[in-house]
Amino acid sequence: MPDLRQSLFFIRAVRALEGRYLSGVLGVWESSRPALLASLSGSTWSIQRYTDVMEQAGRAIASRGQQHIPQIVDVVSSYVHHQRETLNYLGLTASQAAIELEPATLHAFAPIYSGLPAWRAGAYGTILTDVQRLQASGQTNATIAATVTAQEITNGRVSAWRRANVALQVAATGAIWNAVNGALHHSYKQLEKIDQRGYQKQAIAAVDGRTTRCCLNVHGQIRELDEMFHLTGTPRYGDYLLQPAFHDQCRTVMALYAPEMEMIGATTEELRRTAKTERDRRK
Ligand SMILES: [Zn+2]
Repeated sequence: MPDLRQSLFFIRAVRALEGRYLSGVLGVWESSRPALLASLSGSTWSIQRYTDVMEQAGRAIASRGQQHIPQIVDVVSSYVHHQRETLNYLGLTASQAAIELEPATLHAFAPIYSGLPAWRAGAYGTILTDVQRLQASGQTNATIAATVTAQEITNGRVSAWRRANVALQVAATGAIWNAVNGALHHSYKQLEKIDQRGYQKQAIAAVDGRTTRCCLNVHGQIRELDEMFHLTGTPRYGDYLLQPAFHDQCRTVMALYAPEMEMIGATTEELRRTAKTERDRRK
């Protein structure tokens, strides 16, 4: 492990990005609520009107996301730069060749660029299902619109709009961390070409009282760049994943790794011990 502080600083920087992106897209979703309410409450129901409003919200979320991409690139580039300085210090590389991080061609940035399409499809269906259910029970359009877009919990039910809101938080958070880790993977692969040697990656979690069991278990794990991390403990999306996020709200990142890096900073052995101490503390 080169320097744990670099990784922890990076995690904090990504958290700040996440917070800004999240409040941006939630603000867009919030501001599209009056139009959604209006589209649903017309005297005649029109799926076209509803679809138009949702598509407009999608475009606004996409354009909000695009504003944040240069910041994501900056944060990733600076983390990669600091890790290269460590490589230089250890005499593993002398190259100053630039790493190209072109978001437009990077698959990992696509969800942010295009306004979280998977979330939008889900939200579209969530709201439509509730509208149709209420239509079937003979409610007026005005009542349906108010119920579906309600801010407060009514009759013990969270409105479709609010459920979409919660799903948006999960989707936006996942999009940021996936973009960041995808960009790191891309950068490390380029570094292998530039330095003409193999590198590995190491999972680094921010270990505290809220770290999931999954990420405590994987903390410090080393893999080849194209190899899957092996996950145990919950929550987790799968047993084998190429990169974080490993679960909803995951804040684990991938540091660059070479065996020579054990000579400086925290050793892998120390990382595993830190995770074990936290696991033991919870027993
Ligand atoms: Zn995690």
